Amino acid sequence: MPFTQPAPQLANQYTDDRVLRSYLARTLCAGVLRQIEPQLTEMGELAGGPLYGFQLEDRFNLPLHTPWDAWGNRIDRVEVSPLWRAAEQLAARQGLVAIPYERANGAWSRLHQFALVYLFTASTDVYNCPLAMTDGAACALSISGNKALMQRALPHLTARDPGQFWTSGQWMTESTGGSDVGLTETVARKHGDGTWRLYGRKWFTSAVTSQMALTLARPEGNPAGAKGLALFYLETRGADGRLDHIVVHRLKDKLGTRKVPTAELTLEGTLAFPVHGLSDGVKHIAPMLNITRTWNSVSAIGYMRRGIALARDYAKRRVVFGEPLSNKPSHLDTLAGMQAEFEAALHLTFFLVEVIGRDEAGELAPEEKDLLRLLTPIVKLATAKQCVAVVSEALECFGGAGYVEDTGLPMLLRDSQVFPIWEGTTNVLALDALRALNSGAALDALGKLLRELSQPVTEARLLAPARQAQEACAKAVRWLEGAAAQGNDIVEAGARRFALTLGRSLSLALLARHAQWAFDVERDERPLAATLRLGHHGVDVTSGEDVGMSRSLALD
Ligand SMILES: Cc1cc2nc3c(=O)[nH]c(=O)nc-3n(C[C@H](O)[C@H](O)[C@H](O)COP(=O)(O)OP(=O)(O)OC[C@H]3O[C@@H](n4cnc5c(N)ncnc54)[C@H](O)[C@@H]3O)c2cc1C
Repeated sequence: MPFTQPAPQLANQYTDDRVLRSYLARTLCAGVLRQIEPQLTEMGELAGGPLYGFQLEDRFNLPLHTPWDAWGNRIDRVEVSPLWRAAEQLAARQGLVAIPYERANGAWSRLHQFALVYLFTASTDVYNCPLAMTDGAACALSISGNKALMQRALPHLTARDPGQFWTSGQWMTESTGGSDVGLTETVARKHGDGTWRLYGRKWFTSAVTSQMALTLARPEGNPAGAKGLALFYLETRGADGRLDHIVVHRLKDKLGTRKVPTAELTLEGTLAFPVHGLSDGVKHIAPMLNITRTWNSVSAIGYMRRGIALARDYAKRRVVFGEPLSNKPSHLDTLAGMQAEFEAALHLTFFLVEVIGRDEAGELAPEEKDLLRLLTPIVKLATAKQCVAVVSEALECFGGAGYVEDTGLPMLLRDSQVFPIWEGTTNVLALDALRALNSGAALDALGKLLRELSQPVTEARLLAPARQAQEACAKAVRWLEGAAAQGNDIVEAGARRFALTLGRSLSLALLARHAQWAFDVERDERPLAATLRLGHHGVDVTSGEDVGMSRSLALD
């Protein structure tokens, strides 16, 4: 028999996940964990079994846009893949959007939701995209004070009955820009009958199959810039089931997220309703973005975990130079480095989720709200970058098979590459983090948090990383003070390094705190090893690059 390479296998993605289980055991009270664990186990079984198999089989089913029917009528029908149709049903039944609004477990409801999302995400071909926007829309509407829209949409967005469930789009990006949304050209016109109608072109509208969208438009006569934009609610189809004055030009042909029908479309008088006044739309859509950015972070750790789970299994099967890869020291060293980055990212992301849960339960002190505002962009940008690096490394763990399409592996990297781009690129989010500093309150809260996290750390080997986290954060703050004195260009040039340093420092501190607990309670030294490893990778990436030299290095 010729030699063949064994395919990697996935176990139950919950019961097999030491890191998630240990984190939940420390964080949740036993009663809540007991209550949600059967659902996590079920989702883990689906994700590692039938859904994963379905995903591999469904590889060639791309979304299909049919602009015209056979008789020349414009129909713009968009069909999604079979896995997407199944994922929608599953997501509704499991309450992936509903859970935080039902709030059955109080402040822990967000953690319950996002633990499920983390398990669901890598097996469902980026169906997390419409779910993220749906959750974001539910959040933005539920705090908008617009009773009519809340009554109309929230029961659908949070439905567990797939027949009632709606998803929402988040239509911001135009060809003028996704980061610079103040350039939005879509106009809102008030008609004689008192209704508002939208006219303009939206350049990236993911999951165009959604029943509704929140979008930005400029009411006629409003000033240019972001402040003159208003947030509008629209339903994509009228009572007759046809698209409401929306023309879908085409679906984008993308590197990854290929199952997501991301359309270019024109609004040609679509009925819309102001969500909250006729200006400050960017401010009013911010709650939606905070939620979609958190979904991005959770998805990033889900993809890291998937890459590692597959690579780890393969290492035990693949024989090279007479023994399994899992006996090869340099391969193990590579896997350990990936695992350390993943564990750090998981603790960082779920810490953000905990804070959101407490915020929604009304438990946050004012300074913690400042911290939450800062954490959201930082966690998103840090985990997205880690994900691309870890998943890229995971593909290399398979050698040539990692580059071959019918293993299903390249898709992981292609899909991961979107995490640093949508919902705000790394640099755009780093600048957002600077705006979140709120005259120092958020940084004070972060410094206090790092000190608190270090307090339970007593194991001798963990003292140095706990100190390293505090020192790196303090150094970043000193860098910012120095840079601010030199001018805005210096601050902006170092913003990414500043934000990454804060994110990595906090993740190291969270990891050290968890490692102490795992050491004491579970007699497990693996989180300790991950902490030491992350410390060796380094968390301080601040530096004082010369802006003038960077300019000529970059452009000349
Ligand atoms: C698969 C996919 C699906 C998407 N779906 C949606 C959707 O459903 N709805 C939606 O609204 N959008 C969607 N987007 C768009 C996405 O949010 C934007 O592409 C993203 O926000 C970046 O905006 P941009 O494309 O205009 O890039 P640009 O803003 O032009 O960015 C180009 C570069 O400029 C940098 N940059 C921009 N501003 C600054 C600055 N001030 N300082 C330093 N650097 C800066 C960026 O970091 C980036 O490196 C989607 C994108 C993708 C790839």
